[in-house]
Amino acid sequence: MQIPFNRLYLTGNELKFIEDCILSTQTRGSITGDGKYTHFVQAFFESEFGAKKVLMTTSGTTAIELAVRLLDLKPGNEVILPSFTFSSTANAVILGGGKPVFADITGDTQNINPADIRTKITPKTRAIIPVHYAGVACPMDEIMEIAQEHALVVIEDAAHGVNAKYKGKYLGTIGDFGCYSFHETKNYVCGEGGALLINSGDSRIIERAEVIREKGTNRSKFHRGEVDKYTWVDVGSSYLPSDILMAFLYAQLEKLDEIQNLRLKVWNAYYNGLNPYEAEGKIQLPIVPDYAEHNAHLFYVLFNDEPIRDRVMNKLKEKGINAVFHYVPLHSSPVGRGLGYRKEDLPVTEDISRRLLRLPLYAGMREGELQYCITRIQSDMYDLTRC
Ligand SMILES: *Cc1c(COP(=O)(O)O)cnc(C)c1O
Repeated sequence: MQIPFNRLYLTGNELKFIEDCILSTQTRGSITGDGKYTHFVQAFFESEFGAKKVLMTTSGTTAIELAVRLLDLKPGNEVILPSFTFSSTANAVILGGGKPVFADITGDTQNINPADIRTKITPKTRAIIPVHYAGVACPMDEIMEIAQEHALVVIEDAAHGVNAKYKGKYLGTIGDFGCYSFHETKNYVCGEGGALLINSGDSRIIERAEVIREKGTNRSKFHRGEVDKYTWVDVGSSYLPSDILMAFLYAQLEKLDEIQNLRLKVWNAYYNGLNPYEAEGKIQLPIVPDYAEHNAHLFYVLFNDEPIRDRVMNKLKEKGINAVFHYVPLHSSPVGRGLGYRKEDLPVTEDISRRLLRLPLYAGMREGELQYCITRIQSDMYDLTRC
């Protein structure tokens, strides 16, 4: 049997909404950005998640870039983020004119360690970008407290965390800004897409974000009839997704809880199936603190060392199970080394990244596929983890 790492889950309305979007161009509709479906999905997040203002973007990457641009970083300004993340989180800081400063993670949730954030703060620090790894919330009370003490902006990288919660609040709605991704590998998808949540609701910040997102023009105001012509008012870019993509996304959001429950079912089956091996000390399973309601974005196993992890991964691949690892830490990547970092600077990040393995997980994973994965992993566990 071949088990892919990820498979797109269709709710059934994607084509219907895309067709409607395209056909609407024959009357008054449009397939450019900020059309009918873009407004539907924005309104969805604003009403369901309680986000004050949501702007859809072309990706999670551009949502973070837009948030960082709003900080107006000056040369030498620093932004603290984990090294255990996707390159986008750090690229946004550099593109925004700042310097990424990497903090270590805690070995339980693989989220940024607040104690390490404190040691990295300098007079040049402007912001913190916590990443909610695996859709398990960072300890936001502690992070917001640090931010308040030092007057720092908090941008949540909630690319993994759509529909997950911290103490009952949706991830992405807690910091000053939240960033979502709708890339094909995330929980709710449209191929490539993202969203920026502006949680202060501050009208000047919202207006500036709209301008940057619309090529530096005040076109959004023009469309609302607030100005009678639009013009170039600031330096911007184009971060608007086509309404065709938002039509796809709307079909996914209609089934928000269905998709999450399907993922949770797979996550729980892995957890229960592998629990006995954790009790024997062969592996460590994900830890979800009481304050977090996770969304089963991904399931990972920590092995006791890198050779065992690699042996298990290769053995599973031989059996058609596509298990993969991530992240190659950013601080010890070529760019990170160029910034002056050495491997040993963030020991927990280095250690975790060598021992972590992700298992296939997607909504709509067939019962047979899931059972095959679990029994294959179980039957190999004794051989493979004996050194
Ligand atoms: C996927 C991801 C991003 C980027 O999202 P895209 O939509 O792929 O651009 C950013 N941060 C993290 C943690 C991610 O996993």
